Amino acid sequence: MGKLPIRARVATTLGGAAGRMSRLAGRGDGSVIGGVIGLRVEPGLLSMLAADRQIVLVTGTNGKTTTTRLITAALGALGVEVASNAFGANMEAGLAAALGQAPEAPYAVLEVDEKYLPGVIQATKARVVVLLNLSRDQMDRAAEIWLLARRWREAFQQAPWCRVVANADDPLIAWAAMGAAQVTWVAAGQRWHEDSWCCPQCGSHLRRDDMGWRCGECTFSRPAARWVLDESRVIDSTGGMTELNLALPGRANRSNAVVALAVAEVFGIGPAAALQGMRSVTSVAGRYTQVQRQGRQVRLLLAKNPAGWLEAFDVLEPPPVPVLLAVNAQVPDGRDTSWLWDVDYRVVAGRPVFVAGERALDLAVRLEADRVPFQLVDGIDDAVSRVRPGSTLDVIANYTAFQQIRAAVGRAA
Ligand SMILES: [Zn+2]
Repeated sequence: MGKLPIRARVATTLGGAAGRMSRLAGRGDGSVIGGVIGLRVEPGLLSMLAADRQIVLVTGTNGKTTTTRLITAALGALGVEVASNAFGANMEAGLAAALGQAPEAPYAVLEVDEKYLPGVIQATKARVVVLLNLSRDQMDRAAEIWLLARRWREAFQQAPWCRVVANADDPLIAWAAMGAAQVTWVAAGQRWHEDSWCCPQCGSHLRRDDMGWRCGECTFSRPAARWVLDESRVIDSTGGMTELNLALPGRANRSNAVVALAVAEVFGIGPAAALQGMRSVTSVAGRYTQVQRQGRQVRLLLAKNPAGWLEAFDVLEPPPVPVLLAVNAQVPDGRDTSWLWDVDYRVVAGRPVFVAGERALDLAVRLEADRVPFQLVDGIDDAVSRVRPGSTLDVIANYTAFQQIRAAVGRAA
């Protein structure tokens, strides 16, 4: 902190004071407002705060927050402080706040919004950038992902110091990462193919088989991976196999963990040491949380977009454990619910399915079309009351529906 120019120190101090006031006023954790004020006083604050640190940036449509947590936990093996924006404030102000709150930390792991990545790479001179996956977040943003991939690719071409850790199974991610001078490829899998049927290089049809994907017309094909997720294990570059044994459930989180292991390797941390920290991560920003509600066990899963629903299905307890699906269509969710038709709901059949949320009827029509029997319910407590005491209820909800349910179960039953 002492090395910072006076203007940056003023900006950080003002930002910190604003953050404390915001917390006292009961408006969230205050970190973002602190960053906003700091950046207004000193627009170069982010690069000043990032100077002389080893910065890891994490981006992609799904899994950013969890992967950021897992990498932070893995870097714990270094025995020094690691700064992080653990609560998902992932635009410039949130990043500045996270660094400003940990002025002595020599390392930082920062989740970054996809659109902000190029600017943040330059501002922080990031050592490592993690690219997880790229798919539509909302129906109305379909065209954006191709543009994003192009901007990332150009950003890497202008950042030769940067190592990219990228998911080789996602063609658009691979194409973007190929702009970088140094890439570690990870075979982390891709559940959602609907946004990547076309070759980013020539526009032809991509072919998929057991070996991955390749373009039928040009040379663009899946790169060979250094780290491979194989069911519950990771195979490293030497052929060594390690059981992941995470506390977090599901295939999506195993993918995130393999990416985290590849990042740990960049900093000289082997899988055994990295996993020790990663296994201590049990819940991320309230997701995968288990709560007791009227004598039932309730598991909360967030699914923000079509790819996220598939990941959530992977985490469900097997039938007959019931599931509550809740869908809203407020601004943060996307107003358009036509994406419901992109998800195959047949996998939830064979168990009691409850449907709730402001757009419960849209979801009901969708389930009807997939011939999945369901019951409409009036919110989380109605669903809980239909489950046998002592048993489990899984809950999958999109963004604002998830927030509402979290708030409801946070209150006394
Ligand atoms: Zn091609």
